Amino acid sequence: MPEPYASGGRPPAPCGRRFDEELLSGYLDGALTQGERQRVRLHLEDCPACRAELAEMTDLREAAMTTRFTVPADDQWNEAPRGAASRLSRGAGWLLVVVWIVAVAGFALWELATGPASLVEKLLVFAGLSGAALLLVSVLVDRLRTWPVDRYRRVPK
Ligand SMILES: [Zn+2]
Repeated sequence: MPEPYASGGRPPAPCGRRFDEELLSGYLDGALTQGERQRVRLHLEDCPACRAELAEMTDLREAAMTTRFTVPADDQWNEAPRGAASRLSRGAGWLLVVVWIVAVAGFALWELATGPASLVEKLLVFAGLSGAALLLVSVLVDRLRTWPVDRYRRVPK
């Protein structure tokens, strides 16, 4: 007489095992009764397919655990400089960039105004510089707006 299916009357797996997949994952979790455990273990002993399936489940579970454990701490998400030194050097970096761009732009405009360039060339360069300046200003405004917020952004996710 054939053994009844463990639950739900589902057909057995291709390998002929007579219990549901839930029993395999239960086996993995150690959530089975002694009888179920014994039954799964006996089948695993002579079924490479189910051993492979169990190994795959184990891998998936370990991957999930690892992923959970390698999530960075909250303050590591924050790109804003921590500590006065990095805040200061980043501020100085921005200042240097601004000074450099203003100097280069001023020099280019001076050259352009006093040089032999045609009106079209002057317009092209002026338009480009104005665009760059506008972009820079918008970036700066963004920075200034987010700087004070950064300090309060460490809200648990
Ligand atoms: Zn099997």
